[in-house]
Amino acid sequence: MQGLTSAGIVEAWGLGRDSSALERSLALLTVALPEKASGELTGLSVGARDALLLELHDKTFGPELRAYASCASCEARLDFELDVRQILAQEQPPASDSAHTLEAAGVQIRFRLPGSRDLAAVASSPDPEAGTALLLRRCVLAATRDSAPVQTHELPEQAVEALSERMAELDPLADIPLDLDCGACGERSRMYLDIGSFFWTEVASLAQRLMYDVALLARFYGWSEEEVLAMGTARRQYYLEMMNPRT
Ligand SMILES: [Zn+2]
Repeated sequence: MQGLTSAGIVEAWGLGRDSSALERSLALLTVALPEKASGELTGLSVGARDALLLELHDKTFGPELRAYASCASCEARLDFELDVRQILAQEQPPASDSAHTLEAAGVQIRFRLPGSRDLAAVASSPDPEAGTALLLRRCVLAATRDSAPVQTHELPEQAVEALSERMAELDPLADIPLDLDCGACGERSRMYLDIGSFFWTEVASLAQRLMYDVALLARFYGWSEEEVLAMGTARRQYYLEMMNPRT
């Protein structure tokens, strides 16, 4: 995988600007991996998608990710830094098989790992119980007890818990916990890393700076957006400086 170029940054921003967080993550990967069909990207488990986003961040901006969150107790802003390479090195890569099996509470379950579309569907559920029920309907491919089919709403609680644990084991990058200590109130908050939205914030801010440069250079020199973005940061910067030569 190559990092996003200046043109790729602007292209991804244009694709994802008016979209949901899910579409934005997919826009970044679509631009970075044009050889992959969109169904292939949406079919990835959440952890597999996030592993690609972590790698793309490393290739585009380097391993250091600067972000912030709000303290769960006092809402103070908590700035933090992460090393995306370290996260990738710490966790097992997601299981690649599309179907997995589990036996719990006497029920044999065939299931797949949740992907982007599943989380988007769950996010629009009215409450957490409805969300869990929907996730089970989407991700359980078959469930049987003594060869008789079991509907997902009939699964024993113990089986649902075992399934949720197994999904987390198979896709460890889907939920990366972060424990942040608040300097203002001293409380520790547990968050989950949302690499897609942090990465998007960086891309959006750089895209806007690049387009501002394009507008200045296009007006002054008559170059196209494509020409300005293709020339690279050092040359672009130099041409910008030459617009206002020091006397
Ligand atoms: Zn606090």
